[in-house]
Amino acid sequence: MELPNKMPASEQTVTRKKIWLSSPHMGGTEERYVKEAFDTNWVAPLGPNVNGFEDDIVRFTDCGHAAALSSGTGAIHLALSLLGVSAGDFVLCQSFTFSASANPIRYLGAIPIFIDSEEDTWNMCPIAMEQAILSCQNGEISRTFPSLELPFTGTLPKAIIVVDLYGMPAKHSEICEIAAKYNIPVIEDAAEALGSSLNGKNCGTFGDIGIFSFNGNKIITTSGGGALVSSQENFVNKARHLSTQAREDAPHYEHTEIGYNYRISNICAGIGRGQMEVLPERVRQRRENYARYRTVLENIPGISFLQEPKGYFSNRWLTTILIDPSLSGGITREDLRLSLAEVNIESRPLWKPMHLQPVFRHFPFYGNGIAAQLFDQGLCLPSGSNLEQSDLDFIIDRIKKTFYSK
Ligand SMILES: *Cc1c(COP(=O)(O)O)cnc(C)c1O
Repeated sequence: MELPNKMPASEQTVTRKKIWLSSPHMGGTEERYVKEAFDTNWVAPLGPNVNGFEDDIVRFTDCGHAAALSSGTGAIHLALSLLGVSAGDFVLCQSFTFSASANPIRYLGAIPIFIDSEEDTWNMCPIAMEQAILSCQNGEISRTFPSLELPFTGTLPKAIIVVDLYGMPAKHSEICEIAAKYNIPVIEDAAEALGSSLNGKNCGTFGDIGIFSFNGNKIITTSGGGALVSSQENFVNKARHLSTQAREDAPHYEHTEIGYNYRISNICAGIGRGQMEVLPERVRQRRENYARYRTVLENIPGISFLQEPKGYFSNRWLTTILIDPSLSGGITREDLRLSLAEVNIESRPLWKPMHLQPVFRHFPFYGNGIAAQLFDQGLCLPSGSNLEQSDLDFIIDRIKKTFYSK
């Protein structure tokens, strides 16, 4: 199909500023915290902003305890380490996610087992998850995936990584219940879900350990950063210890374990403190973007939106749509993406599932094609909290033209 057809030439040649998928949006007080850090010379991976930022995270999410770190990826790496994951262990991981959820499994030499999504939240399917657990338990997995040369003795997975993708909480009650039945700890990757909740309980607090990301495109940012949270203080204390090179209490440098350099800097944490002040506002703005898109686009044949099941509250980090070409007259998500790109609007296909990634292709996968279909049909629309009304109008207008100009 050719796109766009019959677009007025004027529209195509107008140079408009680029509309980003999701760009940083400062609240105004960030610089004050950063300046304070300079004025007091706390230009280090510790200081009042680090402590203050951790307190803010605890207060906002009611997570119990928080360690502020240099990235969400580092937080997942530490979480796996805290749970004792090491080479050869199985770790279940939601397939439909960003690669940073899965990479740390490989840092530790453990074996990721990827799990499909379900259709209600697009997150980890509890049924496929239990199938995978049983297959590990009874050793069936070594027959199903002989190329992995796994021992035939059954072993349970060491951990489960469940993700709240695009801000939508996963089916945590079902997942935690199954995990508890087999006594497997859960890591909740809430990198995209700060400010989301399920039946009033905040995302990040459902597993044994939760993680957040403050990368530049997330709902709030510290330019780069993350956090590890838990109701269990010993996990968080241990995370702080490991994140600062696992230095023992001695006048010289004494080490009894392998450490990491994963602490956040007092400068970045200062940005984080300012951003935490505007987080509720950012959630409201992102949800408004979603509501606007949905109101004007949901009646276009072939376009559908992910809705919140009862009790679910998504921060709507990114507004995502599915485009079914059998209902849209042949228009695909790629047609729309290219049509938007032509007028300098950034959009992006949904995450390509990990079990389809060349780097992870040879690892086990349990499921039946939901994540793959979401990838085929899904598109993320510009969703920044700093989008102007005129930007949204322009994007919506372009989408309508793309669908109605054939
Ligand atoms: C962004 C993200 C991460 C990684 O966080 P960084 O801070 O970028 O390292 C992990 N998981 C998911 C789902 C993410 O979106």
